[in-house]
Amino acid sequence: AVAPNLWQNAPALFIGALPRPRIDDHKYRRGHALVLGGAVMTGAARLAARAAQRAGAGLVTVASPPAAELVYRLSSPSQIVRPLGDPAAAVGLLADPSVTAAVLGPGAGTGETEQALLRALVAAAGGRGADFGLVLDADIFTAFAGQADALKAHLGGRAVLTPHEGEFKRLFGSGHPVLMGDKLARTRAAARHLGAVVLLKGPDTVIAHPDGRAVIEAGGPPTLATAGSGDVLAGLCLGLLAGGMDAFHAAMAAAWLHAQAAVRFGPGLVAEDLAEQVPALLAALLSAA
Ligand code: AMP
Ligand code: MG
Repeated sequence: AVAPNLWQNAPALFIGALPRPRIDDHKYRRGHALVLGGAVMTGAARLAARAAQRAGAGLVTVASPPAAELVYRLSSPSQIVRPLGDPAAAVGLLADPSVTAAVLGPGAGTGETEQALLRALVAAAGGRGADFGLVLDADIFTAFAGQADALKAHLGGRAVLTPHEGEFKRLFGSGHPVLMGDKLARTRAAARHLGAVVLLKGPDTVIAHPDGRAVIEAGGPPTLATAGSGDVLAGLCLGLLAGGMDAFHAAMAAAWLHAQAAVRFGPGLVAEDLAEQVPALLAALLSAA
């Protein structure tokens, strides 16, 4: 028997919420996604940015530290690169009203300067109000280690947190009541505690809504255990949020697309391959809907 409010992830759960092409679309209406690029681990932001494009964002802007600007500029001719100036200028990028969603954390860095920037940007994203799409991953959980309540203060209605088990523990800090129980219980407790959608990654991925609904994505093959895989998941979620999807359905759709992309590609998968499988998967979903 399946517990109440618990489902195995399947397209039927999210297909109706997918962003749909419209005859009067323009790139901003399809969603403008902002990716915070790191200075050193540039691969994470590049993977996330490409995944957001493949998931349907009309425009992706990468905010780049000066040292990495050329890397991002040469990475993709269809992405905009904006220099990340001082923290005030960086916050200005998030204040651009055309930006509908952002991802903060992948490859961002764990030095004091980078962590301060991450905290400033999360606060700025929070200032965009409940409709702003926000994906929080990777180094954001170091910037808010043991400070889940401080992070919670910035989370609107379209925020998705995508930690793996280690990042999940880091965010809450040892001994926190949210860390008690099995994976389903912990993900639900975290979502309720934060008032935001939590997607807890691993061989099986649990996605929980603050109201208690939860979905398990168990269709991902072990080939997903490869460097950069999580950054692609964050980017898929970003692209779907940028297109206007609600947080719970965007998280479900991103997890399903990520898992099925790996199934479709087969052995020898590297993270770059994942987003390239997404258009065919989306085409099948949209023609079935
Ligand atoms: P990260 O930990 O950020 O690198 O993300 C890794 C991604 O791969 C997440 O989406 C995990 O759910 C997925 N993943 C990791 N290990 C496995 C596994 N053994 N089977 C299926 N998916 C996995
Ligand atoms: Mg990761």
